[in-house]
Amino acid sequence: MSTTMKLPELFGSMVFNEETMKERLSSASYGAWKTCVTDGTPLDISTANEIAEAMKQWAVEKGATHYTHWFQPMTGVTAEKHDSFIAPAGGGKIMMEFSGKELVRGEPDASSFPSGGLRATFEARGYTAWDPTSFAFIKEGSLCIPTIFCSYSGEALDKKTPLLRSMEEVSRQAVRILRLFGDTETKRVVAQVGPEQEYFLIDKAQYAKREDLRMCGRTLFGAKPPKGQELEDHYFGAIRPRVAAYMKDLDEELWKLGVLSKTKHNEVAPSQHEMAPIYTDANSACDQNQLVMEMMKKVADRHGLVCLLHEKPFAGVNGSGKHDNWSLSTDTGKNLFKPGSTPRQNARFLLFLAAFVKGVDDYQDFLRATVAFPGNDHRLGAQEAPPAVLSIFLGDELSAVVESIIHDTDFQSAGKRTLEIGVDALPAIRQDNTDRNRTSPMAFTGNKFEFRMLGASQSISGPNIALNTIMAEELKQFADELEPSRDFQADLQKLIRRVFTEHQRIIFNGNGYDDAWLEEAKKRGLYNLTSTADALPVYTAQKNMDLFINHGIYTKGEIEARAEIHIENYSTVLTIEAKTMADMIRHQILPAVSKYADDLCQRAYHKDAMGVSRQYETSTAKEIAALTDALQEICAKMEADLDAIPADATAAMNYCHDVLIPDMAKAREAADQLETLTASDYWPFPVYSDLLFYV
Ligand code: ADP
Ligand code: MG
Repeated sequence: MSTTMKLPELFGSMVFNEETMKERLSSASYGAWKTCVTDGTPLDISTANEIAEAMKQWAVEKGATHYTHWFQPMTGVTAEKHDSFIAPAGGGKIMMEFSGKELVRGEPDASSFPSGGLRATFEARGYTAWDPTSFAFIKEGSLCIPTIFCSYSGEALDKKTPLLRSMEEVSRQAVRILRLFGDTETKRVVAQVGPEQEYFLIDKAQYAKREDLRMCGRTLFGAKPPKGQELEDHYFGAIRPRVAAYMKDLDEELWKLGVLSKTKHNEVAPSQHEMAPIYTDANSACDQNQLVMEMMKKVADRHGLVCLLHEKPFAGVNGSGKHDNWSLSTDTGKNLFKPGSTPRQNARFLLFLAAFVKGVDDYQDFLRATVAFPGNDHRLGAQEAPPAVLSIFLGDELSAVVESIIHDTDFQSAGKRTLEIGVDALPAIRQDNTDRNRTSPMAFTGNKFEFRMLGASQSISGPNIALNTIMAEELKQFADELEPSRDFQADLQKLIRRVFTEHQRIIFNGNGYDDAWLEEAKKRGLYNLTSTADALPVYTAQKNMDLFINHGIYTKGEIEARAEIHIENYSTVLTIEAKTMADMIRHQILPAVSKYADDLCQRAYHKDAMGVSRQYETSTAKEIAALTDALQEICAKMEADLDAIPADATAAMNYCHDVLIPDMAKAREAADQLETLTASDYWPFPVYSDLLFYV
């Protein structure tokens, strides 16, 4: 341990958290901050000044010299611009200053962040505004203040603003439902999120020798090594010392930052690992997952390692995803997806479950689109991650309950009665701790849903904004229907039965990897948007636009901007990949194999002169020469195709999908065959067995 601090002291030591605020603020200011967080009342400037002063003092005591507004532009990563606390104090001296104004609002130049046409570049100013619901923290000598990022006309240019809006909205609608159940206590309902993060660790020196890893974060070439993940010896296997040292260091960094890093283990693929934190409110969880990804990379560097968060760094072994565990909890700590032991709790649970089932069915296309980007296309539907078809896994017990409600039949083999919601108790529903159906994109695991389609590198904001908003919409519809009811019990029962009946097609407990499921899903009329190019257009489908606009999560302009950014990103990523491939082929692979073939020919020539058999040299050289010519041709075609990308963004996306991807596949196939024929000394960069079995 870098310090001698015990874990409870270490935890959150770099966070200006509630306890620290209580200690360092006047009780009036602490109270004002608290009601700001719980009730959304704005803070006045004198309170902001006092908080800023206390924050600065605390940060300076911890050795910080700078502060930064820390925000999440639509690139999906985080951005920061650092200013020091110094101000001239006369006589050539300085003092450390930080005002409420500087805390509350910042003005980074926004012209270099993607805005999807929301803000003309000549009007480059955007502003950041403090999010008092997420704690400030110190990272590398800077006080980081979580902020939202908006244009001057108030349009959200980031991923946090819509997330906060969606959390408000789902809370508002959920509270309406709770009132119907006689709950007068709950003031807010908070979306809870626990993201499990997968990653690869490879050796830094090996990484440095691969242009594809440096440019694209994934290998564009690489023949299958003699051993992949067949032996299944890596999953949950003993953690090797170098990796263990890394994980220990990472945990300490995360704990200091108040991230509840809880679980760590080896994953399925060689060199692949996972970290899971304890869940927290969706806003903090999204902030913290960004920090986790950043720290994973930084700490790796200290250990001579590189952390790869790409969804598919290596062909032939599993890629990395992220499981987004999501639930709703009241401010009094009740999990609304916990089945509960009394009929009344069960009825509430079934209503929230019905809302979720209906929501996922109604907006399956949009949920799919929230996980659509080039990296994730390598995983979804490739037998290592859920298929591109959305469905919900409920498990046997809960499915039996839903069936019995739909068909009005026995819900317990022992009993004879049908289930009367709100009157009868549900059979015990097991908590699924075993992750037993890993093939489901959306699994109910006892008291939460696990959305398993996310890619390892992506911000979890988008999917959680969608889950919150979809849930808000369904709860709103239910509340609108039930609020005027004169017989709540009967109408509740009818509504739940109707919803399960109408939306049962989205429930599927079987093997999602099975081709038969894709057939079945087609019959059920479920979407199967196999690639990003298929999925992104649904962003701006009318029903999806309506959803977000009606709930005030995005304006029309804001959602169109997001669609545009994702569409452009697709072509940008594919173009970089194809260019990197061409570069490696021309500058590394072709020269290397040409040299090797020539050396073989020279050896054959000399052997011939001596009357020695030259069969090996000649046949290998011929085989290499044929593949070399083929590779050169494929590369030339790919380069010509790169020059012909259409100007229109959507046309470019489709073109990259239809033309560049097949080019790249052909180039890789030829290059990988050449790799297997070429002597190790000649091959220009480390191969899979070096990369995957080194650390
Ligand atoms: P597994 O998925 O391996 O069975 P767990 O169920 O214990 O593991 O938890 C996985 C993740 O889900 C963890 O990040 C955990 O904190 C989170 N989680 C657990 N309960 C909830 C909940 N009610 N809401 C949101 N996330 C949760
Ligand atoms: Mg899991």
